[in-house]
Amino acid sequence: MEGVHPLLVELLMASIPDSPVDFTVVEGLRTTKRQQELYAQGRTKPGAIVTKVDGVKKLSNHQDEADGVKDGLGCAVDIYPFFKGQVQVNHKDTHRCLKLISDHIKAKAKELGLTVVWGGDWGWDYPHFELKL
Ligand SMILES: [Zn+2]
Repeated sequence: MEGVHPLLVELLMASIPDSPVDFTVVEGLRTTKRQQELYAQGRTKPGAIVTKVDGVKKLSNHQDEADGVKDGLGCAVDIYPFFKGQVQVNHKDTHRCLKLISDHIKAKAKELGLTVVWGGDWGWDYPHFELKL
């Protein structure tokens, strides 16, 4: 979680011990290059579309400066549930588990006085959580 905003790290660390489903952080801070690669996926490169922002004209909250401050910190993470002995990316229960985890993380955020947005509430970006400052 290097390069992830410390308040988001604090929220995730507070959420993990009593989460209804264990989870793991798979991505935090992204470089411009990484965001551009993800944007190319499903457009100029094979694969499914995974992001709506190109990383240059519009920044992802995974990138530094998305909040207008160049501090080397990103304000978003992608997580996946861990069950049946492994990280579950494509399991039929992955979305359902992420919903349970999001309810849990949102409750923790409230306790800590933080505002977190879950990508599942947009109807597509289930692994994504971002901190609103
Ligand atoms: Zn994300």
